[in-house]
Amino acid sequence: MTALVWFRNDLRVRDNPALYKAAEEKQGVLAVYVHCEAYVGRFPIAPARLDFIRRHLLVLVRELAQLNIPLRLIAVNRAEQIAPALAALVTQYNIDKCFFNAEYPLDELARDHQVNQLLRAQGVLVKRCHDRVIVPPGMIRTGNGEPYKVFTAFKRKWLQTVMPLHLQPLGLPDKQAQPMPVKPVTQADINRLFGEHSVRDLEHLWPAGEDEACARLDSFIESGLTHYQDKRDFPALQGTSTLSPYLAIGSLSPRQAISSVLCYTQGDWESNAGASCWISELIWREFYQHVVVDFPQVCKHRAMQVHTEAFPWKKDKKQFSRWCQGNTGIPLVDAAMRQLVMTGWMHNRLRMVVAMFLTKNLQIDWRLGERFFMEHLIDGDFAANNGGWQWSASTGTDAAPYFRVFNPISQSERFDPQGDFIRSWIPELADVPLKYIHNPSADKSFSSLQYPAPMVDLAESRKSTIALFSQLPSLA
Ligand SMILES: Cc1cc2nc3c(=O)[nH]c(=O)nc-3n(C[C@H](O)[C@H](O)[C@H](O)COP(=O)(O)OP(=O)(O)OC[C@H]3O[C@@H](n4cnc5c(N)ncnc54)[C@H](O)[C@@H]3O)c2cc1C
Repeated sequence: MTALVWFRNDLRVRDNPALYKAAEEKQGVLAVYVHCEAYVGRFPIAPARLDFIRRHLLVLVRELAQLNIPLRLIAVNRAEQIAPALAALVTQYNIDKCFFNAEYPLDELARDHQVNQLLRAQGVLVKRCHDRVIVPPGMIRTGNGEPYKVFTAFKRKWLQTVMPLHLQPLGLPDKQAQPMPVKPVTQADINRLFGEHSVRDLEHLWPAGEDEACARLDSFIESGLTHYQDKRDFPALQGTSTLSPYLAIGSLSPRQAISSVLCYTQGDWESNAGASCWISELIWREFYQHVVVDFPQVCKHRAMQVHTEAFPWKKDKKQFSRWCQGNTGIPLVDAAMRQLVMTGWMHNRLRMVVAMFLTKNLQIDWRLGERFFMEHLIDGDFAANNGGWQWSASTGTDAAPYFRVFNPISQSERFDPQGDFIRSWIPELADVPLKYIHNPSADKSFSSLQYPAPMVDLAESRKSTIALFSQLPSLA
């Protein structure tokens, strides 16, 4: 008999519960990766992310081969074809157990339910493990058994739950006595599967593999962690870990990340301001994974705070396209959008700034921005992205009221004080003096041929958005 491990967003061999458990079974182990062209329906995947998956698979095949575990690749066009494709493998390889790590958005739950039913009907024991979060959704509750709607209270409960656990990541799974007789997947097979997606070469920015992810983690912990809270908001500095693509694709687990911090601080993370702050960000990540389960309407393009759905969002195509192209006339917004399109990644402070500008100044539907991000982010993760967009649009988990509206020019003066980040992404502004870098149109001698004037009056649009929010019928 054979145990099957179905890899999804968990492309690593260390600290991978599904793989670890399958390997313990002391029988043949087969791994499978299913590439679904239509994904599971909500958004297209960014070409940068697809390429990142392709490069990770090349590494994963080699690492699994060292454990005597062959990988099969399956391509399907539609999500409904995944369960029958796995059922066919069951018959072909005499599979009696199937292991995978859970994913929480609605479409993925539906897909896994279908797989579970079909495989069980074939007599297969299906085991769903948890690796995407440290505490599975549903287990962090208020005293009344309710889910948390705001972060601070969730975080307190999460820390009380997790910190006494003495987290220990799993090591390498057992090496199998001999590989199953399966034709090995070649580099050409993997490349062929992903071949139609042309992508700018991002390998130098985002090298693939769990060794790279672990090296990045170690280097950040050694040299970035302690000053994280001072540097993390300045996009011109290397102040954050840039681990999000690896956490999103699962070549690094959150347990590996948190336990590295605990090890570095010898358990006294609370005395290290950088460590506390970074742990907090990882808890934000967990929080949003819980939100998609507790408020499943967010998986259907709906607002988490249902009463905000009456907001009259615009869908102005021309204005939206200026935002997408980094041509709004607000240098920090434009620099950020260009960074996203060129590198597949954007600094967290800037994600908030551009999202607020789109929703609160242009009053454009947050769902358009959410989609554009998923189409470009190498770290695109439904839960984190939806959470970030709904937080920025005041339709989600922000504990502050809707009148939190960042002024992108003040944000620019505060977080890019020398204009270094702006200059590195907007060559048209390279020679603009510091006095005007955050708002070049304030310089009367500056020509709008070089760079456009701001496309919206920031003060007026802010006032109008707040007025519209204040008129919403509240269900509270
Ligand atoms: C509008 C918007 C959209 C976003 N979309 C995504 C997305 O698709 N994928 C994604 O991984 N993150 C998303 N984020 C969260 C955050 O911007 C990125 O995780 C962060 O910029 C990644 O950089 P880093 O790895 O250097 O983070 P660090 O500052 O080093 O933080 C460590 C890790 O914590 C997690 N994290 C940090 N901040 C957040 C946050 N606010 N919410 C959730 N997780 C967080 C990430 O996994 C990150 O790698 C979004 C935020 C906003 C405001």
